[in-house]
Amino acid sequence: MTVVDLENVTFAYGEQPAVKNVSLRVEEGDFLGLIGPNGSGKTTLLHLMLGLRSPDSGSIELFDEPVDDFNDGERIGYVSQQATNRGGSMPVTVREVVTMGRFAHAGHSRLTDEDHAAVDEALETVAITDLADRQVNQLSGGQRQRAYIARALASEADLLALDEPTVGVDAESRDAFYQLLESLNESGIAIILIEHDIGVVTDRASRIACINTELYHHGDTESFVESDALTEAYGATGQVIHHHH
Ligand code: ADP
Repeated sequence: MTVVDLENVTFAYGEQPAVKNVSLRVEEGDFLGLIGPNGSGKTTLLHLMLGLRSPDSGSIELFDEPVDDFNDGERIGYVSQQATNRGGSMPVTVREVVTMGRFAHAGHSRLTDEDHAAVDEALETVAITDLADRQVNQLSGGQRQRAYIARALASEADLLALDEPTVGVDAESRDAFYQLLESLNESGIAIILIEHDIGVVTDRASRIACINTELYHHGDTESFVESDALTEAYGATGQVIHHHH
């Protein structure tokens, strides 16, 4: 099974492409780090991969289906940047958010004991059982991330896509968070992670896609570290390469 398959994908908001001629694949079990300078098209590329935007040209498949035909949304857990920054205005509890994920998986509106057990297990896995009755909009960014990941686990998602999930999260919680991602990946969930700290990505991800509108590298982490892709991608931008490890 191929999770995501992009062939020659180009997308522009206006005149200038934000993503140009990108071909890449995410296979089952991959942990893909998606990196590049600010404004290099990472979020746009992720949106294209998940079918949230349609390409101007090129083709996209999700789970071996053309993205336009894909309607198994519960197979994907997507945690946007907005999810980290805001909790939404609706007073919903963590348990309610995670239970919604289970509804998506179960496909019916009356949950069984097994479904409730799956919700409990998801809360347990991401270590937020004690927050189950708290409102999501009262959590810290890091706690909220975990709530959304628990929702994806309850829906038995095959792919977790995260857009800079640890912005505003302290170093210790960040480390714990990335350990969680690594263990979820080891349990078989494919991960696509946008992260500005290159050290985190090369420590955790098995594969790297490095972009600056066009793709500068797509392959395993070792060959990326040995390549010049990073300096080439940052090249003329003058932006600092964050490398905390
Ligand atoms: P990154 O995630 O790497 O920071 P983005 O994908 O957010 O990059 O943005 C890529 C380019 O597209 C940037 O030049 C950005 O200004 C532009 N862009 C992003 N979103 C929009 C939008 N909704 N409308 C117009 N331009 C956009």
